[in-house]
This record gives sequence, structure tokens and C-alpha cells, in this order.
Amino acid sequence: MTPEVLAAWQEALPNQRVQCLLCPHHCMLPDGRTGLCKTRINRSGRLFSTSYGKLCALGVDPIEKKPLYHFFPGMGILSMATAGCTFRCVNCQNWTISQQPPEAVPWKGYTPEEVVERALFEGVDSLAFTYTEPTVFYEFMLETARLAREKGLKSVLISNGYINQAPLEALCDVLDAANIDVKAFDETTYRMLTGGHLQPVLDTLRTLKDRGVWLEMTQLVIPGLSDDTDKAAAFYKQLVDLGFADTPLHLSRFFPQYRLTNKQATPPETLEALAHVAEEAGFKYVYLGNLQDRGGEDTRCPACRHLLVGRRGYLVHTYRMKDGHCPNCGVPVAGRWY
Ligand code: SF4
Repeated sequence: MTPEVLAAWQEALPNQRVQCLLCPHHCMLPDGRTGLCKTRINRSGRLFSTSYGKLCALGVDPIEKKPLYHFFPGMGILSMATAGCTFRCVNCQNWTISQQPPEAVPWKGYTPEEVVERALFEGVDSLAFTYTEPTVFYEFMLETARLAREKGLKSVLISNGYINQAPLEALCDVLDAANIDVKAFDETTYRMLTGGHLQPVLDTLRTLKDRGVWLEMTQLVIPGLSDDTDKAAAFYKQLVDLGFADTPLHLSRFFPQYRLTNKQATPPETLEALAHVAEEAGFKYVYLGNLQDRGGEDTRCPACRHLLVGRRGYLVHTYRMKDGHCPNCGVPVAGRWY
């Protein structure tokens, strides 16, 4: 039986109420109530995580699937999740697990030690906290990442970035890389799509970069919602001005699902137009996701366009990096390389 554990970030309030300090929703919960993420419950004035170790997914993926393209390409990564999420994305592709409490989906109990042992058994070098929103199993993630580091494994966060600064800082102590899904260019669309706010996510990007965690970004391009080139140009310029030109940007093709079945799949030309906008703004590494056979998955030298890492789907078929530099012109390429 996997225990409920005391939540790491909370503040007691009068009358056995408690406030969760983990994410910017700052849920204030009366006794017996569960937070918006469905994974934290007030029991007699103290907040407990109900997701600890209740993994509904555990398996080895290629790192390209996360996606991370500048972090040891081709590496296998043991990936895990519990149910629950801090967002209510209308387009969620994992809604059958993200919008449920941990005990409502099939799960198997693991300790951090068992997860690390499994990674060593599988012969992989790293762990990924992914699929739903890892913030909802923060305590388990933190302990597992700490132990992983002791054993020489890397830890990777795949997240919506909706987490308060203090818990994020603690997590940065044991994280090696992250991909943050930035879901819209402006606050109004962000709120409508996710139920959250944009600024805390931008704060997360800044903190991860400042703390030396290797960072990549994903944006799902949804027709009519997150494909406006003028908004994109302003947003990308803002990010470049903030120092994110070297951060790989993954523009991902939308397919209709969950509550957004009335939209069409993103036309490939829309994705390519946005990639052009991002490159014009100054992003050096822009990728096209969910879109094969158009060359949008390859890593090229930002100076001479020499092919550095060739991909087809999740498969790396060409690797020409030399000590973190382009072998053709010698320019350094941002990332963590073999
Ligand atoms: S982590 Fe969950 S309980 Fe805590 S503030 Fe966020 S949504 Fe609310």
C-alpha cells in the first residue's frame, strides 16, 4: 500500500483550513477537501499528497519523445507519471489520466528506490517525470531525483511550468533538464485553454535557465487559438530579449481531441510559418513536432546549416556533433552532448 505523505509546501490556516503553496493556484482547502489537481487533501488541517508513488505509467522512451533534442540525443529515459494535473487543458492528449485523482486509474505502487533500481536494470541513464503534470507528485519526484543523482542518473522534468518559485528552486537542485510547455502567447488565451496564467510559466523558464537546468520549450499550435503570427512575433521577441535565443523551441502540430474536436489538425504550412517567425525573432533552434518528412526534426548548425543530428520520428540516424561544436565550421551548439 502506498502511503499518503505530508505535502511539502503548505500553510496552516484557522479552523483546520490549509493553503497549498506548491503551485500558483494557491488552493485554500477546508478539512476533507481536495485541491484543484485532485492530488492533495486536507486531513484535519494538514495537507497530504495522495499521489505519492502511485504510478499509472512507467516505461522506457527515447528522449526525443519528451521532446528534448539537445540533451544527449537518442538516450533512453525511464518515464513515469501519476494521475492528476494542475491544468484543465481543453486539448489535453492525456486527459484520461490527467483529469482523474490518482486512485481512480490503474496504478502500481513504487518507492523512489524501486524506480531507480528499475532504471539501472533497464540500463538507461536518466529518468523523466512526464505524461501528466509532475508537480502533482512533487514529493515523490524530488525524492526520486535526489536518489537518482546519488546513483549517477540524470533527471528530466516535462511540465506545464505551473509551480511556485520556492518549490521550483528546491527541485532545480536535483534536475538536469526540462521541457516546459508554453501553451499560448497571451494571458487571455492561456487562461481559456488551461485555467492557469502565463506569467508564472515565464518565471519558471527564467529560473530553470538561471539555475543551469538544460531547458527546451514546446508550443502546441492550435488553429485559431495559438497560430497568430503577429502575437507570435511579439512573444518570441520578448523571449529572445530575455535571453532564450539558444533555447530549442518545439512547435507541435495539433490534432483534434478531448474538448477541442471541433478544430482541424494544424496545417503543416501554419507550423512552418510560425517557425519562420520564431527564427526571424532570433530563436536559433526551431523544430516541428508531430510532422514527419519535412526536415523539421533535424538539428542544424545555426551558422552554416550543416546537419548535426538527423532524426526520423524518434529515431536518431545521424550524429555529427564534435565536443559540442559543429564539425564543419566549429561554432558551439547549445545543449548537453556526448
Ligand atoms: S498543487 Fe494542487 S492543491 Fe496545490 S495549489 Fe496547485 S492545484 Fe491546488
